[in-house]
Amino acid sequence: MIDFSGSAERITESTLVIGLVLPDVMGTYGDGGNALILRQRARLRGYDAEVLPITLADPVPATCDVYTLGGAEDYAQRLATRHLARYPGLQEAAGRGAPVLAICAAIQVLGHWYETSEGERVEGISLFDLTTSPQATRSIGEIAGEPLVEGLTQSLTGFENHRGGSALGPDARPLQRVTRGTGNGAGAAVDGVVQGSVIGTYMHGPALARNPELADLLLARATGDEQKDIDLPDVDLLRRERLGRAAREGAIPRR
Ligand code: GLN
Repeated sequence: MIDFSGSAERITESTLVIGLVLPDVMGTYGDGGNALILRQRARLRGYDAEVLPITLADPVPATCDVYTLGGAEDYAQRLATRHLARYPGLQEAAGRGAPVLAICAAIQVLGHWYETSEGERVEGISLFDLTTSPQATRSIGEIAGEPLVEGLTQSLTGFENHRGGSALGPDARPLQRVTRGTGNGAGAAVDGVVQGSVIGTYMHGPALARNPELADLLLARATGDEQKDIDLPDVDLLRRERLGRAAREGAIPRR
């Protein structure tokens, strides 16, 4: 778990607060890095930004400017579900339009219900109109696709590792059309979910390190400001490496 000690004490009235939800149970595959990417991109643009870790020992505050949740194994995912249902700060924040990013297991927790690989059905918190059931096989590997959401223009990339497949209901839209990998599963060839201010994806990576445009979309919504470009050669290099291979192999269009 990334050490954020001291960050809560640095929060003042003017701080952009990035709520990292339950990193003690929902943080596999470095997903806590998504909060760091948001903090760094905000700071580079001159915002005073801090990450507030919200653990199982804390009630979930409704006051953060933006929230991120990571993936988890089945048991940890169940602990997180119970905590979010007991302290509905995230639901309240999403209700007032706060941006939320939910990765993998978090998509499932934010749906109406999910079935674990053991076949047990667990009630979710219904921020997403979707349900999740185990797929015949686990989906592991690179995922790439084209965004289906206004404000995103660049191909998306990440890696996935999940057994559950999510079926979207009429109030939920997919995040991207998948050209490589499984995404939501069940032959739908789409990944992720967008409903109001809440965005979910099966992409780990962490997703925002690989997809800075998605980070800036969340920041634009959190701040109400357009996020001007920042020159980060290392981030460009990472994208060139990840997307270059996918383009050479025909998984995404060449640009
Ligand atoms: N436990 C869930 C599944 O296997 C989510 C896994 C994850 O977050 N990577 O579907």
